[in-house]
Amino acid sequence: MQKIREYLKNKTFLKYLLYSIYIVITTGVLFSLLSNPSIREFFTSIENKTFDARQSILSPYKKVSKNIAILAVDDESYEYFLDKYGEWPISRNIYADMITYLENQGVGAAAFDLMFVKSLKSSSNDDKKLADTIAKYDNVFTAINFDNQSFDLRKPADLPQYLKAHIKNDSDINLKNEYTYFKNCRTIIPQIMNSTSNIGHINLMRDEDGIARDLHPFVSYKDDFYPHLALKVVMKYLEQNEGLKIKDFKIDKSGNLLLGERKIPLNGKGSVILNWYGPSGINTNTTFEYVPMWKVEKSIYEGKKLIPDNYFKNKIVYIGTSATSLFDLKNVPTDKIFPGVEIHTTFINNVLDNNFIKRVSPAADIILSVLLSLFVGLIVVRSESTILSSLVAILTVIIYLIAATVLMYYFNIWVGIIIQVASVIFVFIACYLAKYIIKSRDLEYTYALATTDGLTELYNHRYFQEQMLQNIETGKRYEKPFSLIMIDIDFFKKFNDTYGHQSGDAVLRQVAQILKKNVRSSDIVCRYGGEEMSIILTNTNNDDAMTTAEKICKAVSAHPLKLVNGNDVNVTISLGVATYPQNGQTPQEMIKYADDCLYIAKENGRNQVGKK
Ligand code: GH3
Ligand code: MG
Ligand code: MG
Repeated sequence: MQKIREYLKNKTFLKYLLYSIYIVITTGVLFSLLSNPSIREFFTSIENKTFDARQSILSPYKKVSKNIAILAVDDESYEYFLDKYGEWPISRNIYADMITYLENQGVGAAAFDLMFVKSLKSSSNDDKKLADTIAKYDNVFTAINFDNQSFDLRKPADLPQYLKAHIKNDSDINLKNEYTYFKNCRTIIPQIMNSTSNIGHINLMRDEDGIARDLHPFVSYKDDFYPHLALKVVMKYLEQNEGLKIKDFKIDKSGNLLLGERKIPLNGKGSVILNWYGPSGINTNTTFEYVPMWKVEKSIYEGKKLIPDNYFKNKIVYIGTSATSLFDLKNVPTDKIFPGVEIHTTFINNVLDNNFIKRVSPAADIILSVLLSLFVGLIVVRSESTILSSLVAILTVIIYLIAATVLMYYFNIWVGIIIQVASVIFVFIACYLAKYIIKSRDLEYTYALATTDGLTELYNHRYFQEQMLQNIETGKRYEKPFSLIMIDIDFFKKFNDTYGHQSGDAVLRQVAQILKKNVRSSDIVCRYGGEEMSIILTNTNNDDAMTTAEKICKAVSAHPLKLVNGNDVNVTISLGVATYPQNGQTPQEMIKYADDCLYIAKENGRNQVGKK
């Protein structure tokens, strides 16, 4: 053991190896913690927040397509309509006129993020007018919604064949999973349902914290798949502008939904993570422009010129409500105002720019964490300065955060942050602890070396002197006695001459053990020098010290000791006792007194405790 220790002390390489193993173990502990579902969920929810933060930081630097506009029922429009018509929703007659208005302006596509469900407020004439208007144009879109209402409440509707999506899926993504499968469907009025195939789903799937970060291009219902409204709208746009006609959908081996040259990466849930542009209407340089719907209404019915000519020409116009106007608190990472329509417009813009976010695999996240924590661990191990290594660790984390953000901006890649930062902190602390433990062990070892006698493993002379001083000090302060026994082996010169020096050494070691066994653990047994030993008996008066000395004397003489050749032999010792304060007030005086007694013991024939 001693040898291994010495070896390790000199081999820094081995020390580093030990640290590396330590880091791997601590990282392993972290990841086994992560295999616990509730802890993983906790980490995922924080990771999602880091995504939101990165998106918010980056959104001012992204540009949206000027070919997308939102026609919104914002707070103003909502009040205007309530005032003017005394009801909400407004009559479908108005929507029909709006479509005609947009078409006259040469709109690229008009999409309603609204569902025209059965309504008593709207007369069947109005419904028919809207259905007829929608049927007139092949670039007007509207929505259905799937849910999980019980069959007692609503019978699952049969949907027409032309709404279904045909998907050739070469990936191992299960498109009919817990996130995408619905038992029931909320349909819309049959006039519209039967008049167009431009109907898509508008199901919104949110994360645990209520924020929608992704969009599901397909949901499954009964045995079929249905495409998202935004997917249908963008396909129409690509058809008009790029001549791209897609009949059946194709998902490649790597899980990309193929739209011509464009690849839309699907994740394990079958959804796409959107690349957000920031709150719309606030900074219209970078986000979608929106027109309040009351302006269109006034343009149609009052001939007001509130919107520039050809404003809607060739644009994808999304018609929907703002969240606040309907007291509908849907959130997306960067916005609270138009989350509904913005999920659609963001998806469409992402398709046009081909810039969806790709989340890296868990393996890549783990490799990154291990690399980062190995680096930080190494810095902690190598650096002598706590401040310096802490600074480097903090800097590493900051640089990583910046790198993760830059990576998201330039490459649309989402690398984890929370696992990496957690493991860096974990390993940082672990390495500090390891370093501290190893250091304190080194100190302990050095201290033991400095105070122990190598042959007998008793305390050495220096330690004896220190302890004498200390005991005298405590004795003075608390007025407590303590005693000192000096011991010398009888005729040891002759013993060496007879049995050899090695047997002499062996006997010294054995006598030392006998001494230790016959005193309390608080007593301090030392090698004074040569074959002389001393014992400091703390808190012990003269009578008790004399008794102990007698006991030791008998124990040594009675105990057969082993020579190097295996034979037994007996030795005797002579002892002298001194007690503080009566026999001396300084170490020198005490030692002198005990030595004098020891001399008397020798004079009187040895193998005894000498008395003055
Ligand atoms: P006395 O009874 O008067 O004490 O006789 P002694 O021969 O023991 O005399 P003294 O104490 O003066 O002799 C000390 C001897 O102890 C000298 C040396 O040979 C032996 N000695 C001292 N240190 C060691 C040691 O570390 N190992 C061995 N083997 N012998 C030692
Ligand atoms: Mg001696
Ligand atoms: Mg001697």
